[in-house]
Amino acid sequence: MPHGRCQNSPDAEGILSPPGRAARPRRRIAPAAGARVDLPDATPLAREKHVPFTPFHMGPGILAKACLRGWFSLIVFGWAQIVMDIEPLLAMLGRAERLHGFTHTFACATLLAVFSAPTGRCLAGIGARILGFAGFRPIGWPAAFVGAFAGTYSHVALDAMIYADATPFAPFTDANPLLGLASARFVYRMCLLTGAIGAVACVAIWLYLAGRDVPPGAATL
Ligand SMILES: [Zn+2]
Repeated sequence: MPHGRCQNSPDAEGILSPPGRAARPRRRIAPAAGARVDLPDATPLAREKHVPFTPFHMGPGILAKACLRGWFSLIVFGWAQIVMDIEPLLAMLGRAERLHGFTHTFACATLLAVFSAPTGRCLAGIGARILGFAGFRPIGWPAAFVGAFAGTYSHVALDAMIYADATPFAPFTDANPLLGLASARFVYRMCLLTGAIGAVACVAIWLYLAGRDVPPGAATL
């Protein structure tokens, strides 16, 4: 997803083009009258000034956690977001022209999900031991894989909607039919909104279940 409101230049449609690279031709849709275009520029200052956008991917994940509960690991979902954005981070540090390469394809996302599920599950256990969370329950394998696949696939889909250099269906095609389906502003706000709704729902569920007997898997993170 949006790895940084920093590295790309948006056009009037809210589609972000990588620095030094022109966006592909796309449908022309005039912005709404009076619409405020407040998306990132591509100046070096902007690269340093804005924080990475990777955490915004967590919004839909938090909502999914509220809905799926024990069948979904939010920790593994978050780990998958980090794994997905290693490539763009390295590209940014190296000032590469293209930020969203092969890792931002559904093909590679499948491989990264298979990688993220066991590693995220393992890291969560190590982290719990280091932090002394005595009540931590190991993440179940179904929850780990659901979180991992939801994480990598949603990441590719959201980024492909707003980044002009993404090719989500490579190596089969370099076309990106998802580009422009939603503006960057809409995607950003959707992530924030789903995160807020999901967080409220998670807290409400936690309060409701406090002190009740629940299956062990339902309490997994
Ligand atoms: Zn990304």
